[in-house]
Amino acid sequence: MKLEVNQDVCVGCGACQAICPEVFEINDDGYAEVYVENVDEDYEESAIDAKEGCPVNAISEVKDTDEDDEEE
Ligand code: SF4
Repeated sequence: MKLEVNQDVCVGCGACQAICPEVFEINDDGYAEVYVENVDEDYEESAIDAKEGCPVNAISEVKDTDEDDEEE
């Protein structure tokens, strides 16, 4: 699973980092970013919690067309 943060929307509340620091961090500009290429399976659940907990829905899943072929 790949996630991304829309930094135009993020308000830098830090909730995602608090819920799932293995995937999200607040960068020098004060906005969250995803710092892993792919979310490790072990952290998917908390990453999704963070995604759903974002107050401004700034976090979205990136569909990887290469990997998702079998799910079409
Ligand atoms: S929870 Fe949402 S608004 Fe808050 S820092 Fe993370 S991405 Fe930004």
